[in-house]
Amino acid sequence: MTHIALENVSFGYTASPVIRDISLTVDSGEYVGLIGPNGSGKSTLLRLILGLHDPDDGTATLFGQPAGAFVDRARVGYVAQDVTENTKRMPITVAEVVLMGRFPHAGFGRITTEDRELAREALRTVGIEHLADRRITKLSGGQRQRAYIARALAGEADLLVLDEPTVGVDAESVDAFFGLLDALNDDGMTILLVEHDIGAVLEHAGRVVCLNRELYFDGPPVEFAESDALDRAYGTNVRRGEGVTI
Ligand code: ADP
Ligand code: MG
Repeated sequence: MTHIALENVSFGYTASPVIRDISLTVDSGEYVGLIGPNGSGKSTLLRLILGLHDPDDGTATLFGQPAGAFVDRARVGYVAQDVTENTKRMPITVAEVVLMGRFPHAGFGRITTEDRELAREALRTVGIEHLADRRITKLSGGQRQRAYIARALAGEADLLVLDEPTVGVDAESVDAFFGLLDALNDDGMTILLVEHDIGAVLEHAGRVVCLNRELYFDGPPVEFAESDALDRAYGTNVRRGEGVTI
């Protein structure tokens, strides 16, 4: 089943397009790593996929419905890039954040015992059950990412869209985080991951999509490593280690 379909999508905040004629489909169970230099349109592309922007040209569909009109939000777990900013002033606990994942299922906001049990189970899956009563703002970056994934799991999402989730997360937690994503994908979760660590994408994702406003590559990691797409997308004078992690 196709989860995401972009057909010839173009979009710009101003007259100059940030996304140029991109076509892309992501099917159920895939693990796609989306890479590209800073400002290349990765976050914008995710927002087009999620229906948070409308394409200027072309069409975007989520689970076969126009992305802009998609209502079954619980099916998609989205962890935005500026998640830390979003939660700075929220005096709520981890358990409450995760329970929010149940809201689309709970009639008129009535949370049942079963909803609470599903939230607990989600916290257990991501390994932070012991932090349930902690304020979300007190968590480390890595723990917070897990909390947001737990929220998606509690909502029974089958597509996870993650925008640079490992920024500001310590190296050890990053390894564990990629292990968690692998396990979720093994269980059938579709994953679309924007990640600056290209080496990690090549190691974990089943497919690499590389863009810089337009699409430079879409295919298996092995083929990406052998292609010149990285140099073309990032500029030929890019020096590895300077802004690019590989
Ligand atoms: P990436 O996630 O790859 O770093 P973005 O999608 O955030 O790239 O940004 C792509 C381009 O669009 C950049 O030039 C950025 O400055 C611009 N941009 C992003 N968001 C906005 C916005 N809300 N309004 C105007 N320009 C924006
Ligand atoms: Mg971004």
